[in-house]
Amino acid sequence: MFQGGHEASEKNLAAALDNPSSLNFLLLTHAHIDHSGLLPRLCSQGFRGPIYCTPATLALLEILLYDSAHIQFADLERALKKKKQGRWRGALPQTLYAASDVERCLAQVKTVGYDIAFSPLPGLSVVFRNAGHILGAASIAVSASGDKGHIQTVVFSGDLGSFEQPLMVEPSQIGQADVLIVESTYGDRLHRRLEDTELELVDVIKTTFKRRGNIIIPAFAAGRTQEVLFLLADLVRRGQLSHLSIWVDSPMAATITRLTHGFSDELNAKAQDCMSWLKAHPRALDIRLVADVEESKRLNQIKSGAIIISASGMCDAGRIQHHLLNHLESQRNAIVFTGFQAEGTIGRRLVDGAKQIRIMGHDVAVKASTHTIGGLSAHADQADLIRWLGSLKTPPRHTFVTHGEPAAAGSLRRAILDQLGWTNVQVPNRGQVQTL
Ligand SMILES: [Zn+2]
Repeated sequence: MFQGGHEASEKNLAAALDNPSSLNFLLLTHAHIDHSGLLPRLCSQGFRGPIYCTPATLALLEILLYDSAHIQFADLERALKKKKQGRWRGALPQTLYAASDVERCLAQVKTVGYDIAFSPLPGLSVVFRNAGHILGAASIAVSASGDKGHIQTVVFSGDLGSFEQPLMVEPSQIGQADVLIVESTYGDRLHRRLEDTELELVDVIKTTFKRRGNIIIPAFAAGRTQEVLFLLADLVRRGQLSHLSIWVDSPMAATITRLTHGFSDELNAKAQDCMSWLKAHPRALDIRLVADVEESKRLNQIKSGAIIISASGMCDAGRIQHHLLNHLESQRNAIVFTGFQAEGTIGRRLVDGAKQIRIMGHDVAVKASTHTIGGLSAHADQADLIRWLGSLKTPPRHTFVTHGEPAAAGSLRRAILDQLGWTNVQVPNRGQVQTL
């Protein structure tokens, strides 16, 4: 699913396969909406085969796809209301699918755990390997046996995680591939060390609490909120911070935080240790998952010593807006950004140092301090990608670099040629078909 702006909506509406009913099956790497968001549409366009993914991916899909349908419906309702009042120009937004389409799509999902080979068609063998990106994320190896018993393997990396993260395990090695398709989101970048990120976070928290303020952390409900929670808990465990009072004010983030606990055996050893420690030391920090709106509003009465994590991550919707409204005008408070802020969002304006912000219909002076904690990323950087690729026993015959801006994909291609000495590395065009 394309995301962001009117162009995205047009691209999503135009996205269609020639003959969806002719597809035998679909393999899904993970639940992030840019990878899964058009599945209900594909099913309503005629695809009736099974969708294979891991159990944790299905659990996340159940939350994210219904949310996607809900957002589309809410956007349309808002536009209709404005049109009635004569305040809407141009075409109304079109929904891609309804909740009923999501329900039908989810009924087509079949789950298979990591490292278990399965055969969606005779002669084909598929394995999901842990990609260490988000809960349930997988790289996929598809092996086909030819006429003379010769086996060819195609590996699709999906989104890969970095080797140093608060929650997820390292991306699994893949062993062997004849053809490899690898993502390149951060193919031209190196992340800051997690250790430096932690030091920065400790510094902001201590300084803000010393001046008796609150800390507001805008964060995406799926993934980033749980990473921040574990990072904070681990800092308390290691004695870098004393007792913390944390409120997670987003119903979806609360649901996904509970779900993350349910899949704790898929988290890395440090995160599992941290969970056991939290169980043994229940008073070490208060983590409260806020559900209803009234409880959310009561948070306005807390004037100091609180950390409030809320969505959306870029501040353009959701409960985070009323926390910003309530906290931006005091220099005692701090706003801590932990993820990318897209052009045109309130989050981006704050990161860029705006002195005044319009939020929920109010003009607000920005007096709180703003900080960007750079080291958290669910994506592998160039060094991680080269390390993952370097684990292959022999170079693939063909490598395709995808899922990145042209500069990032080009830079990763160069690094593969220079550092690994592979040949036949291409950045394909969208829709390119290659016979190998
Ligand atoms: Zn992803």
